[in-house]
Amino acid sequence: MTNNYDLIIVGAGIMASSLAYNLYKDGYTGKIALFEKDNKYEYSSTPRSEGGIRQTFSTEVNIRMSQYSYQVYKKFEEEMAFDGENAQINFNENGYLYLLDKKSMPIFEDILKTQEKLGVKTKFMNQRETQSFFPEINVEDLVGSVFDPEAGNADPYSVLQAYIRKIREYGISFIYEEVETILTERNKAIGIQTTNGDKYFAPIVVNAAGPWSGDLSAKIGLEIPVKPLRRQLFSIDTQLKFQNEIPFTFDPTGLHFRSERSKVVVGWANDVPYGYNFHLEKSFFEEEIWPVLAARSSHFEQLKLENGWTGLYDYNYIDQNAIIGGHPDMGGYFIVSGFSGHGFQHAPAAGKALSELIRLGKFETMDVSSLSVERFKTNELVIETAVY
Ligand SMILES: Cc1cc2nc3c(=O)[nH]c(=O)nc-3n(C[C@H](O)[C@H](O)[C@H](O)COP(=O)(O)OP(=O)(O)OC[C@H]3O[C@@H](n4cnc5c(N)ncnc54)[C@H](O)[C@@H]3O)c2cc1C
Repeated sequence: MTNNYDLIIVGAGIMASSLAYNLYKDGYTGKIALFEKDNKYEYSSTPRSEGGIRQTFSTEVNIRMSQYSYQVYKKFEEEMAFDGENAQINFNENGYLYLLDKKSMPIFEDILKTQEKLGVKTKFMNQRETQSFFPEINVEDLVGSVFDPEAGNADPYSVLQAYIRKIREYGISFIYEEVETILTERNKAIGIQTTNGDKYFAPIVVNAAGPWSGDLSAKIGLEIPVKPLRRQLFSIDTQLKFQNEIPFTFDPTGLHFRSERSKVVVGWANDVPYGYNFHLEKSFFEEEIWPVLAARSSHFEQLKLENGWTGLYDYNYIDQNAIIGGHPDMGGYFIVSGFSGHGFQHAPAAGKALSELIRLGKFETMDVSSLSVERFKTNELVIETAVY
């Protein structure tokens, strides 16, 4: 068995898969291997994601990534057809709805200006229009809302599986081993070593280890600001049913809810310490979330908490945005991580952009250079107001 590759990717979640897929599609002919420690993806972020896809960001780089990725997700099922059958990713384009009070309105006024300039179709609805759009909610405290129609949610596990099927078909290797560390020589990445001591060599190593990427990078003394941060989602069944499917709706408190078939999925990013913690706190739903939901709509007064799940954000604790690019202090070492709560929706764009950087040494389709690793040194942070 040869342990020599042209490119090694640590992790085989959605970032790694999208990168491998784009490299191959764009004509890269080198030998690629993906290393994955969790062959059932039990704890990986991707299958635990809520699958939200939206255009509503405040920075140009995130909007461009959304626009690119949205177009990919629109055609994804055909593009990922396998054995003559389309992939199935259940992309429900129910939109995103942001309920706005006096405090959140000015932030959205700025977002709307940027969105309009960049051709995003978000639109403002006043209080009355919001009420007729969503009759079951209480709008008393709201000045209105913003609706993002080119948005919704898709099934992250199906998207991941579709990418994996394709890249396997292309002959890219999957090695189900845990990477202990990245091997380096004179400030260059030269490969990886697995926890069972095996060494694999490649002049390019990509860290796509999601919530684990910060710890992996720290092993070679290169800190990247990514830590695991637990998020919780709850599935509820309301006694009174809503007239229409609920779009991915953000309350001014930050709480969000949307329809998932006949149920409603609810989440709220609470303050928790960093760590690999997967514990679901039902009391958080009962004590904190439920009263806020019930205040928003009497339909939430009678409900049954059916189940819930947790997952880890690959949380960028400095500016909550992606990190895409080569590390300035280590030749051949690339990073694609730190997406916090918007990695699923930006994975198609991230894979495309990094594929270009690796193959061509520059970004062509969209300029994501502001998401570089260097920004933390130069303090040119990406300040995005629409992160959750
Ligand atoms: C609850 C929740 C809700 C979310 N909702 C949304 C949403 O609505 N919209 C959105 O866009 N994003 C959302 N996200 C964020 C999104 O899911 C992530 O940003 C994205 O999935 C990250 O993909 P990844 O491939 O980097 O990470 P992962 O899917 O975690 O993949 C990384 C892989 O690397 C493997 N790995 C790690 N270390 C090693 C090692 N040393 N050796 C070998 N393998 C290793 C892991 O096992 C893992 O499979 C959500 C996340 C969570 C947790």
